[in-house]
Amino acid sequence: MKEYNYCPICATPLQTGMIEGKKRKYCPECAFVDYKNPLPVALAVAVKDKKFLLIKRGIAPKKGMWGSPSGFIEIGETPEEACLRELKEETGASGKIVKLIGVTRREDEEIYGDMLIVKYLVKVDAEELTPAADEVEDARFFDIAELPSYYFELFGDVIEQVQNEEV
Ligand SMILES: [Zn+2]
Repeated sequence: MKEYNYCPICATPLQTGMIEGKKRKYCPECAFVDYKNPLPVALAVAVKDKKFLLIKRGIAPKKGMWGSPSGFIEIGETPEEACLRELKEETGASGKIVKLIGVTRREDEEIYGDMLIVKYLVKVDAEELTPAADEVEDARFFDIAELPSYYFELFGDVIEQVQNEEV
């Protein structure tokens, strides 16, 4: 994860000290403290007719892996809005939020560090998919039997609920 060496407000070299019980970088000139917070991500477990819409990631982290559409929540957006926007951007599909699955911490060791993942179950409307050319290599629906094993580890409970038509 990239770190500040200079104050992003006044460009003074940062110093390190104990602030509110933790070692943090701070600016000796202005009030800036480099608090480290997780990045908020919205993620769509996107479903249609008991099939799961996954994307093959075209960019790091986890380039080349199949996973749920997801992305960073922007300023001024609700997590629900971010979830549906990312789904639309990455796959071309629109959808409706069914429910919040949960909120978890995940650590990305490649680029972003700590992330706070807000996960929704989304019902997808679209038949045709138009994957985002730059970010996404491919997008398609998976039958439950074809889902990668790591996807089961992440979303086993909700996969079961979808399979049993409980949601
Ligand atoms: Zn400063």
